[in-house]
Amino acid sequence: NGFAKLGISGQLLKATTAAGFTDPKPIQEQAIPAQLAGRDILGIAQTGSGKTAAFALPILSRIIALGTKRRPKTARALILAPTRELAVQIEETIKVLAKGAHISTALVLGGVSRFSQVKKIGPGVDFLIATPGRLMDLVREKDVILSETTWLVLDEADRMLDMGFINDVKRIAKATHPARQTALFSATMPAEIEQLTQSLLRDPVRVEV
Ligand code: AMP
Repeated sequence: NGFAKLGISGQLLKATTAAGFTDPKPIQEQAIPAQLAGRDILGIAQTGSGKTAAFALPILSRIIALGTKRRPKTARALILAPTRELAVQIEETIKVLAKGAHISTALVLGGVSRFSQVKKIGPGVDFLIATPGRLMDLVREKDVILSETTWLVLDEADRMLDMGFINDVKRIAKATHPARQTALFSATMPAEIEQLTQSLLRDPVRVEV
């Protein structure tokens, strides 16, 4: 399995193989080793390029190494996505890749019962996958605590901008741990996303596919 050369090992490599991922896609080849080395990523990539595994595998690898210690109401990694459909897809991919490891995930989406979402996050989760509007509400009300969130992924950042989420995205990012690792993916790079990149990413590795 070509993911072994990128630094993926153990149960995670097994699950990746079981998922049918054996030949890394270009974005995965470039982004996975850089993220495992602790670097921030700016990924210019379209849907279908394999970006979900590109950001999920390195975070999974690090969280599995850290063990099962979670804290109430917190998320270790936060993935922000523009739409409910994309958020649901990301959670599914993470679950498939995390098979056999003790990884918890939760979704925070608009238009769905807040109570069940908050309840699921209560004991703390490894991955929180969210759309920005609803998450901002839960952060404001302290139902979700992001101060210990050390991985942040912004997926399809240009679509979040188009949908008017940019201020929520900035506020949410500010609520996460200052020493976090950040990855931002966008199909296009309008000036606002360039600016967002400069304010949220630290010396990022630029990956373009
Ligand atoms: P994404 O861009 O993350 O939505 O991925 C697009 C599609 O490619 C999804 O259906 C993934 O399951 C699939 N995929 C991603 N990486 C690989 C890989 N290395 N080998 C085979 N399929 C993959």
